[in-house]
Amino acid sequence: ATAKPASVVINANGMAYLNSRLPVEWRVADLVRRMTLQEKIGQMTQAERGMVFDNPDLIEQWMLGSVLSGGGSTPPTNTPEAWLTMVNRFQAEAMSTRLQIPMIYGIDAVHGHGNVYGATIFPHNIGLGATRDPKLMEQIGEATAAEVRATGIPWDFSPCICISRDERWGRTYESLSEDPSVAIKLASIIDGMQGRLGDPSRVLATAKHYAGDGDTEFDTAAAEFNVGRPWYEQRYTIDQGITVTSRQDFARLDFSPYPPAIKEHKVGSVMPSFSSIDWTEDGVGNPTKMHANRELITDLLKDRTNFRGFVISDWEGIHQIPDPAEPTNGGLTAYKVRVGVNAGTDMFMEPNTAKQFEDLLLAEVQAGRVSQSRIDDAVRRILRKKFELGLFERPFAPTDKVGEVGSAAHRALAREAVAKSQVLLKNSGGLLPLSRNAHLYVAGRNADNLGNQTGGWTIQWQGVSGDPTVGTTILEGIRQVAPSATVTYSADASAPISAGDIGVVVVGETPYAEGFGDVSGPECGFCTPEQLEEKSLSLQAGDKAVIDRVCGAVSRCVVLVVSGRPQVLTDQIGQIDALVASWLPGSEGAGVADVLFGRRPLTGRLSMTWPRSVAQVPINVGDASYDPLFPFGWGLRTGGHHAVGDDARDAAEQAVLSGQAPSGWAKLFAEADRASLSDDPATAVTLLARVAGKE
Ligand code: BGC
Repeated sequence: ATAKPASVVINANGMAYLNSRLPVEWRVADLVRRMTLQEKIGQMTQAERGMVFDNPDLIEQWMLGSVLSGGGSTPPTNTPEAWLTMVNRFQAEAMSTRLQIPMIYGIDAVHGHGNVYGATIFPHNIGLGATRDPKLMEQIGEATAAEVRATGIPWDFSPCICISRDERWGRTYESLSEDPSVAIKLASIIDGMQGRLGDPSRVLATAKHYAGDGDTEFDTAAAEFNVGRPWYEQRYTIDQGITVTSRQDFARLDFSPYPPAIKEHKVGSVMPSFSSIDWTEDGVGNPTKMHANRELITDLLKDRTNFRGFVISDWEGIHQIPDPAEPTNGGLTAYKVRVGVNAGTDMFMEPNTAKQFEDLLLAEVQAGRVSQSRIDDAVRRILRKKFELGLFERPFAPTDKVGEVGSAAHRALAREAVAKSQVLLKNSGGLLPLSRNAHLYVAGRNADNLGNQTGGWTIQWQGVSGDPTVGTTILEGIRQVAPSATVTYSADASAPISAGDIGVVVVGETPYAEGFGDVSGPECGFCTPEQLEEKSLSLQAGDKAVIDRVCGAVSRCVVLVVSGRPQVLTDQIGQIDALVASWLPGSEGAGVADVLFGRRPLTGRLSMTWPRSVAQVPINVGDASYDPLFPFGWGLRTGGHHAVGDDARDAAEQAVLSGQAPSGWAKLFAEADRASLSDDPATAVTLLARVAGKE
């Protein structure tokens, strides 16, 4: 490949679009006027980094508007510097095109800059949902943006404002909550990410996956499609399944986080979901892939909600649109391209088929099956964001910001977020907080495992157990926060246990991402036996054995569950004195230790219902019969900020713990929490008083 100049001289002479003093809309109009159809189609096309890495010339040749890194594809050296060099190298190719239109690089930084070695890894969304803290979310957004932008990347495929209605969904941990009230409140992360878009330390955010991604049912057609195919061609059946719903329920549950994300937080891009929608009013049985859904993408999102940013398809999302002429073709066809573009998606994530996509779309436009005005609309939307981001003025990222990645300030923020995300489910006899001079017996396979603690979307797409990046495990955090404690550590609890110790047992899940975490479906065909067990949503036999052994032998025991979703542990609960949902806390395990030893209070609240049994799943706040082990909103406090309603909550929780609460209390409690989230403290207090038996 020919070396391209490292910088490009921009000559605004006579070229209105290069003049940064002109309004963005003028610049967009001027540029679109100058572009050929091929150049326009190039702007609508996004290839994967792996496709162009060894041959970046393709970016210029194909006039690509964008390049992405799919989760976990690692460049030769995964350092912040290597990422920056790569992105600038790609940009030099884009800037060598006739009109010098910068490309926009996109990445999944879904819990901090997870792909990059040494980055700060924040808790996954399920933990952030438990913080209920919009200000904290904004700060996390800003810190994430700073780290992403420091590596030259101006666009993040985040946040997932998905509502997880069924924890068998493998992306449950990417969801802030089963209830939209939490996602709506915490969408403030977008403000932190985007700031004023022209600020070179911010990024373009993506609200995903539009819409109903977490509300799906099993997709029989996908299962049929999979028959006889190798695993890597198979489709997921719950993740990417079918949302069977009425338009009214869709608006209330699945769609409701989008209008605030668009109107209030001005999110710059939206990604449609792989899933399908099947309207009950229209007679179930006619699911439409979201990527083919003009009603929802163009009419509802763009026209009625006035979304002015651009729609980016998901990874080969249009390949899944069924082509009536070729039902078994899993790849691209002219039909799928036409239907996808006409439905309203503006940019197409075509990791390995970018050129094929361009050729097919060109032919469709030339044949008049896709209109010029649809193309112009797509290109205008994409260019508008590139101008707003300042990419035309500053296409190349500076090299002096890499110190932002994993900075002490960001790690301190992540540690605070971890502490605030911990949910204290049970605390018999006020066992927590522990004394910093305690004698502890620490056990469990997630006590000293950074990879399990960071989960999926960390260094690799699926995440990886062990030591994938820089961070502090929970065990290390305990040793840091309580240096004078006496700590015996034995992962499998094989070391002798002294009866006077306090047991700290850390159990849970190992990493997975997307369909790999689905409870059923063909993807389980290549799971490890342990993963199959985990997919049952119950604690693994090995974890139960460690709990039995430690909690049976010590004076008191604390169990921490490091997992991407609630785990069924009803049979163990009796022998556990204190139980904490730690979720997937990320790189700063010391935040967990902070709350264990009272350096910070426990204040987190469940944003996901904790079931008694697997048979209860799906179980959600608002269900007619609602009898979980711990309801939505549950979380004992060990101090902390006093908000309106906190006293009523504490009283309600005490009534429950002492067996004084009326039957059906869980429903009242969860409704109270939902009311307080929707800023209706009066209703919340009334409901909580009923739980406390005061009314
Ligand atoms: C996921 C998206 C992600 C994209 C790019 C897809 O498989 O569904 O959430 O943004 O890959 O990595």
